[in-house]
Amino acid sequence: MIERSGRTCYKSEDLITIKSSERFITSIIKSGHDSVLEHASASFRIVTNRFTTHQIVRHRLFSYSQESQRYCNYTKDKFDKEICFVRPIEIHPYEDDLEFYSWRLSCQLAEKSYFDMISNGSKPEVARSILPSSCKTELVMTGNFRNWRHFLKLRCDSHAQSDVRYLANEIKGILCCMAPTVFGDL
Ligand SMILES: Cc1cc2nc3c(=O)[nH]c(=O)nc-3n(C[C@H](O)[C@H](O)[C@H](O)COP(=O)(O)OP(=O)(O)OC[C@H]3O[C@@H](n4cnc5c(N)ncnc54)[C@H](O)[C@@H]3O)c2cc1C
Repeated sequence: MIERSGRTCYKSEDLITIKSSERFITSIIKSGHDSVLEHASASFRIVTNRFTTHQIVRHRLFSYSQESQRYCNYTKDKFDKEICFVRPIEIHPYEDDLEFYSWRLSCQLAEKSYFDMISNGSKPEVARSILPSSCKTELVMTGNFRNWRHFLKLRCDSHAQSDVRYLANEIKGILCCMAPTVFGDL
């Protein structure tokens, strides 16, 4: 798709062979003719915590659909009547670890307060206000390959926060497998 679209510029579609895309796309990337990469796109369904998706959604050119704490009532059977939390990567789940102990305790307290509020008549959209950013969330994220390259450059970098960096590296691994010519240089 990328090669066929890009070769329109030069009317060189006759040069397309089974192997020609690698050289063409590599030269497109080298020359900074990045808009051609916008002809291909990828979607990911991501399950993580809300502080990670808060960083992800800063990337304005993607399209997102995210689990809404306004509409989801975690006291219902379909959520197993519990709130799921996703531990930050840097907290290790050892029983005698004080950091882990404090994190888990505050999640348990938040869950209890949420359930109390709902049973006292609060709507989920109000009860959610006390939930921490470690709450599990689900997000579908769609973007073109140019955006994905930009996202991966920023979020796989050593300056990126560790949870979003972990996620970005997982995504990079998949994209490198699916489209090595476009993502292999990252
Ligand atoms: C290590 C790191 C630390 C960060 N720390 C903070 C922080 O402390 N506080 C904070 O608020 N944010 C922080 N951010 C978020 C950061 O400021 C960006 O909001 C985020 O990385 C999205 O990047 P972007 O704007 O380049 O990308 P996107 O929104 O994905 O946009 C892609 C590109 O499109 C172009 N573009 C998009 N919209 C516009 C526009 N309106 N005008 C002109 N060009 C546009 C730009 O070239 C941009 O690079 C951090 C990000 C990183 C990676």
